[in-house]
Amino acid sequence: MAAHFSKTTTLQVEQLLRDHHVKPTSQRVVITSYLLSTEEHPSADEVYEQIRNNLPVRPSRATVYNTLNALVEAGVIREVTVDPKRVRYDANLDFHHHFVDLESGAIRDIPKEKVDEVKQSLGKNFTVDSYQVTFYGKIKG
Ligand SMILES: [Zn+2]
Repeated sequence: MAAHFSKTTTLQVEQLLRDHHVKPTSQRVVITSYLLSTEEHPSADEVYEQIRNNLPVRPSRATVYNTLNALVEAGVIREVTVDPKRVRYDANLDFHHHFVDLESGAIRDIPKEKVDEVKQSLGKNFTVDSYQVTFYGKIKG
């Protein structure tokens, strides 16, 4: 599956943060860059594991958690709550749906176009204001 983000440069990430009125500290830049580079929808612990060695000073777990919360509040990233065990983080802010692999817990994006047809067919009988679809199953291969 192709990544939905091309690799973003540090300058682009800094600008993205400024656009959301967030001061681009090195921690925020590293965490945001990581989330933009992955399709994995990582949990806070997974973000911590991935980025802790990419900073000159190793951050504490709490710092990473606080940074994630601040980035969510600023609208830079969003929380995904389709995994009942833990909150996951997603830097793909385009409207989309998710597929959850029940064995591994992996989450993949499902583009909105795949579900649009269903929404349109509902239009005969329902007025749909918003929707969010999650598929559960197993990722093949
Ligand atoms: Zn997603």
